Amino acid sequence: MTSIAIIGTGFGGLGAAIELKQAGYDDVTIFERADDVGGVWRENTYPGAACDVPSPYYSFSFEPNPRWPRRFSPQPAILDYLRDVTAKYDLKRHIRFNTSVSGADYDESTRRWTVHTSGGDVEADVVISAVGQLSRPSWPNIKGRETFEGASFHSALWDHSVDLTGKRVAVIGTGASAIQFVPEIQPQVAKLSLFQRTPPYIVPRPDTEFSPLHHRVFSALPVTQLTERLAWFGVTETMGVAFLYSKPLAKALTALSRRHMRKQVPDPELRAKLWPSYPVGCKRILFSSNYLPALTEPNVEVITDGISEITATGVRTNDGMLHEVDVIIYGTGFTASDFLAPLQIRGVGGQDLREQWTDGARAYLGMSVPDFPNFFIMYGPNTNLGSGSIVTMLESQASYIRKAIDHARDAGPISVRADVAEEFDRDTQGRLSGSVWSMCSSWYRNASGRVAANWPGTVTEYRLRTARFNEKDYEVA
Ligand code: NAP
Repeated sequence: MTSIAIIGTGFGGLGAAIELKQAGYDDVTIFERADDVGGVWRENTYPGAACDVPSPYYSFSFEPNPRWPRRFSPQPAILDYLRDVTAKYDLKRHIRFNTSVSGADYDESTRRWTVHTSGGDVEADVVISAVGQLSRPSWPNIKGRETFEGASFHSALWDHSVDLTGKRVAVIGTGASAIQFVPEIQPQVAKLSLFQRTPPYIVPRPDTEFSPLHHRVFSALPVTQLTERLAWFGVTETMGVAFLYSKPLAKALTALSRRHMRKQVPDPELRAKLWPSYPVGCKRILFSSNYLPALTEPNVEVITDGISEITATGVRTNDGMLHEVDVIIYGTGFTASDFLAPLQIRGVGGQDLREQWTDGARAYLGMSVPDFPNFFIMYGPNTNLGSGSIVTMLESQASYIRKAIDHARDAGPISVRADVAEEFDRDTQGRLSGSVWSMCSSWYRNASGRVAANWPGTVTEYRLRTARFNEKDYEVA
């Protein structure tokens, strides 16, 4: 019987386990470092945490949830959804909680993997990494950061024991996380100093509460929720096309964002500070209807001077001004380019995946690497989206990996052919070099400028390209 080890219980790991179990694989073990499922939806508990992709679309296609509390559901509802899915598909008995994985080694003599876990070594025929791209908080390298004497924490490690009421609070960063928690904490704090390095494009978030009536209709007529899902698929695919291929569509998106800002920020001076100077879509477009109004409140100051240092009492900017604060919150994102870190994965000949990836992570269709037989990656390099639901990408990956495992079960351990992987990477990078994502810095690119995170096409293209497993792309180890 094929034994399969999966690392992580976010949407990726759970989705892979469901696909495999439904195909008859039962020797599936999922390793989870925490005591609960959920991945980023367990970790990120900051005020206002919610998904900016509508829930009817940001959920498994085979498991629609008629009880979403809102169109853009908050983090606790998404975590509950993942817990429910875990229970419904009887996944708990496969999960080893509180067990972190440090790495895995492929043994050419046994043609199996040894997975190194905090609970001891485990042998497996197949290893699937589902550790995500956004699981390790990134702390900015600012001089004096450790000298600050007040409370400080990262948005992904929110310290709920710190009472922000009446405090002077600095927020560093204006990405997807910050724009969600800033409007939540603004009414509570005495003063909010928002340190913005690069402003985001913001468009309205058409959120709505799903009432008991919605829930009844979604339950009784599942086609209604499917219609909402397909509508959002259409909207986000169109946005993807705007970033990738269509200048007129990109212009329309820019105009929408500008109108939103004009409406929500009457002060032209503040508006000028908040308006981006890079092409739309280069950084993630953010959906929010309450972030900009919060910035117009008298207790908020948007500071665009660069930060020179952090002192014991505050944040000093390049103009020499010390902004004294009681608390610093880092909304500074994640170390996304460091794929699979800190796992040490060693394939044929003991070669270390991180060494193969010194000039940037790469994998065939984001999932397979030459000389790493029966090793697969969910949400791997070049599978992130500028627009759309990553859950749809993960479903495609789960299905593709299952088909690969079906083939390996008969043929023996398989790895993608080096020439196939190289050709794929050349084509991917060629397309990305002309894309909007190469025009500014963001977590989509690594330190050398390579766009390592994003898929260069639409979700539809990815689904079509992964729909079939072509055994000619692979060789038996
Ligand atoms: P992020 O988008 O990477 O934003 C980090 C912010 O910190 C940026 O504004 C960045 O400025 C700033 N920053 C970083 N280092 C800095 C420094 N040394 N000095 C000053 N500013 C600094 O991170 P995030 O907001 O946590 O979001 C990351 C990703 O997580 C998102 O793009 C999204 O995919 C996901 N996410 C999703 C949701 C959702 O609703 N689905 C919600 C939250 C997060 P620069 O732009 O100048 O680098």
